[in-house]
This record gives sequence, C-alpha cells and structure tokens, in this order.
Amino acid sequence: MKKITARAIVCICLAGILSLGTLLFVGKFMLNGGNWVSFAGNRHLYTDGVLKSGRILDRNGNLLVGVEDGKWVYNKNANIRKATLHAVGVPQGLIGTGALTRFADKLTGYNLVTGAKPILPGGRDLYLTLDADVCQAAYKALAGYKGTVGVYNYKTGQILCMVSSPSYDPQNPPKIEEGDSKYEGVYMNRLLSATFIPGSTFKLVTVAAALDEIPNVQQQTFHCSGSYEINGKMITCPSAHGDLTLEQALNVSCNCTFGQLSVQLGGDILEQYAQKVGLTTNYSVNGIRTAVSTFDFNTGDDWELAWSGIGQGKDLVNPCAMMVYAGAIANGGSAANPQIISHTSFLKGVRTSIYIEHHTRNMLDTQTADTLAEMMRSNVINNYGQSNFPNLDIGAKSGTAQSDGSKEDNAWFVGFLQEAEHPLAFVVLVEGGGSGSKAAGKVANTVLQAAVKE
Ligand SMILES: [Zn+2]
Repeated sequence: MKKITARAIVCICLAGILSLGTLLFVGKFMLNGGNWVSFAGNRHLYTDGVLKSGRILDRNGNLLVGVEDGKWVYNKNANIRKATLHAVGVPQGLIGTGALTRFADKLTGYNLVTGAKPILPGGRDLYLTLDADVCQAAYKALAGYKGTVGVYNYKTGQILCMVSSPSYDPQNPPKIEEGDSKYEGVYMNRLLSATFIPGSTFKLVTVAAALDEIPNVQQQTFHCSGSYEINGKMITCPSAHGDLTLEQALNVSCNCTFGQLSVQLGGDILEQYAQKVGLTTNYSVNGIRTAVSTFDFNTGDDWELAWSGIGQGKDLVNPCAMMVYAGAIANGGSAANPQIISHTSFLKGVRTSIYIEHHTRNMLDTQTADTLAEMMRSNVINNYGQSNFPNLDIGAKSGTAQSDGSKEDNAWFVGFLQEAEHPLAFVVLVEGGGSGSKAAGKVANTVLQAAVKE
C-alpha cells in the first residue's frame, strides 16, 4: 500500500511539472512566438535573408522600405534612407533595434493561429510613428558628426525623430572595415542603446533634488568666485559668475553652485533622484529595451560627488531616458512612454492594430516640474537666446561633456516645447561638437522647426 501511495505521489508530481511546463511554454509562445518565427533562416518568410512581403512606412505613409510588385524597394531619397537606417534596420539583421529585425512578424501577417501563413493573404504595412522629413532634417543638421537626435510627443509617446550617426545608405551599403573610425558604432542606435557623459544636462536632476530637499533654496543667494575648493581640490567655472539665485546659477550653468549643492544633498539623494526621474529605467520602446544610465555617487570623496552632480565624472546617461525626463518636466511630472510603432494594416488601408498610450509613473511633483520648466524657459531667454529659436516656446538645458582630452567635447541640448499643438521633448547629442548650446542647440532648432511645420 505504501509503495502505491509513493508511486501515486511521484505520478502527481510529474503531472504537475508537465502541466507547469506546458503553461510556461504557452505563455512564452504567446509573448515571443512572433520573434521566434521571424528568425532569418525561416524559408517561409525570407528569400536570401530578405523578407518576401510587407512594407515599412512613416507616419505620413511614405514608404521607407518593403516589397512592392514582388520587388524589394527603398525610399527614393538617400538622406531619408540614411536618416532612418537605425529605425528601419537592414535585411541582414545587423542593426538590432531595426524594425526589419524586431518587428518582422508584424510585416508578414504572423498570428498565433496559423503562424507564418497569414489568415488573409498579402504582406502587412507597418506604420512607424516617425516623420521621414523630420528625420532627414536631423540627419542633415548633424552634418557628418557622430551623435543622435530624438524628438517625441510627451503626451502620446510617439517618436517623430530617431536618428543615429554615423549611418550609411542601405541601398548601396559601403564596405565597412573593422576599426574604421568613420563608421565607429555604425550599427548601434545611439538614442536607444548607448550611454554618454551627460555634462551639464545632469544639472536638471541636481536642481530637481535641490528644489525638493533644500528648504527655501530659491530664496538663497550663491556666490561664485570662479572656483570652489573641496578637500584641497578645485571645482571650476570658466569665469567668476558672482552672486546668483538658483535660477541664475542654472542659466549660466555654474559648476561652483552645483558642486556645493551636490555635496549638501549627498550621494544618496542624488542617486535617488537619478532613479526617480527615470534615468536608470530601461524603457521598452515596443519591446526594444533602452540602455540604462549608470552613476557612482558614493565613492566617499566629496570632490568626486560634486563633479557627479555637475554631470561629469563617472556619470553615463542614455539620451532617450534624458528626452523622456525633459518631457516629464514639461508635462507636470510624468510623460508618455516613447513608442515607435503607430499601427499595422493590410490591403493598403485596413487597420489591424490600434495605438495605445502608456505613461511613466510620477517622476516629479507637479510644482517641482513646473518650477523647473520655468527655469529651463529662462535658460533660453537669459542665456541661449530666443532669437536662435524663432517662434518656438522652448525650454532647454545645454551640456558640454568633457571627453578624454584627445577629442573635442560632446555637445548636448535637451528640452521641450510647451505648445498645445506640439508637445514635443527632444534630445540632441553631437559627439565632438564642442559647445552644447551652440553646436547642439543649432541642430535642435533646425529639427524642431521641421517638426512644427508638419
Ligand atoms: Zn560659477
């Protein structure tokens, strides 16, 4: 009897494990089936690594790449092909964030019931949220510099512009030798997958922490003599800024003030705020995970902590996360999660999916966000110059991030438009561009003018 009971228990356990395994498989199949079927060796979907059906279009219906009349065709404009390379990808799958690689299931009409053989014949149209003309404007404005430009609607999450440079023409791919500095990181989507020293754009995090954590910080006066000593080592500004309010300190990006504030706040608070404002979040852009920003605020050395709060030192920030934070500042403390897929359709017009907005948690209190937005607006009026951004209601922060000394500094410009019709947040990074507000600010203006024109 004992033997039978023991065997029964073993059988029940085995059946339990089998059921659990089946459940796990079904779950994974429902979530990942599309990716499994899209592997480039699937002869039902690909000929010589190129998809047999489907088209990728921008938000206005401009063809980016796809099959038309049985032929593989690209957009006719070489600059658009280069500007959208990292969003669209290449048939060989070299660009991990490309739609051809990530969303191949959506192009072929894959479904859970009939698999790779679509229920209704014909390829599918995948509409991206991108505006090809705005991407083209951004690619041209980068003027051959390495870097990235992102623009997105912080109310809906739609990414209008996602450009990464260096790029190349997928219709006429060049021979790229390993180690060729011209094509350094060419397969990487810098907006989503890279991290960079943020320079003074990080002061947007330090100032948010100061607004919340230091009582009456806006009524205080800070003094900058051009340098500030911590443990025998210096924090320096390009010149003596004199007496400053917090807003004025942000306007002129005073290192001495922000160094002092960082030490006063401490490493734990800065770390908490870097997390709170989403810099360490890896956002899912329709399943594509963004790179996570990294910091080291607790080295035990106040001088290093001060430089971290200024945005130098060991800070590394993902441009997309910075763009979403700018959107949250403009939008009262939270923003929409960025998305790149608008919808899918078949038979050239029948929609097969809808766009659903997702929003971040609250990054900042509404009052903190509004104060910060006003301060960023005042950066433009008092420092960068409204005349450099004609007719744009723009708030921004520049950053000039020191590189290893052998190259020019990296130029950043991050911010938002507070316009009802164009609720856009943006990030521009020009590697080796030099001064943030001059080099990257100019790119931002060109791209935003193109975006509001659409
Ligand atoms: Zn200063």
